Amino acid sequence: MSDLSYLYQEILLEHNSKPRNYRTLTDATVSIEGYNPLCGDKYTLHLKLEDDIIVDIGFEGSGCAISKASTSMLTERVKGRTTSEAFSVYDAFHTMITEPGKAVDGNLLEDLELLSGVSAYPTRIKCAILAWHALKEAIEGASGSVSTE
Ligand code: ZN
Repeated sequence: MSDLSYLYQEILLEHNSKPRNYRTLTDATVSIEGYNPLCGDKYTLHLKLEDDIIVDIGFEGSGCAISKASTSMLTERVKGRTTSEAFSVYDAFHTMITEPGKAVDGNLLEDLELLSGVSAYPTRIKCAILAWHALKEAIEGASGSVSTE
């Protein structure tokens, strides 16, 4: 195993054993469910929006290691940020996963770049992107549920 894939595994395991912001928000302004039927990943994302700032975020649910790590990293990355910055991160993450080789701004992605290897596994792309679709929907004001299908 290369050093990079070792690191990648470590990060995934770390987020799975200690997922960040894994809790419900009693004062959430929007909650949205994301479901990936291909893998069975199912999460509910809770956001507390004040004006255009994501002042708090939490998630609940279950799924594979990649989906859980991606959701955990998402919450860390966008908490306290503006919705427009969250959209920029969404775009960069989406491009990294679905269009490997295309240049993306690493400053936007931070440790999310560790998930770039997922792009080589088409069946896992939906696992990685699930929470991001939910985030986008939540910010755009939709409520209810979102599916990768
Ligand atoms: Zn999955």
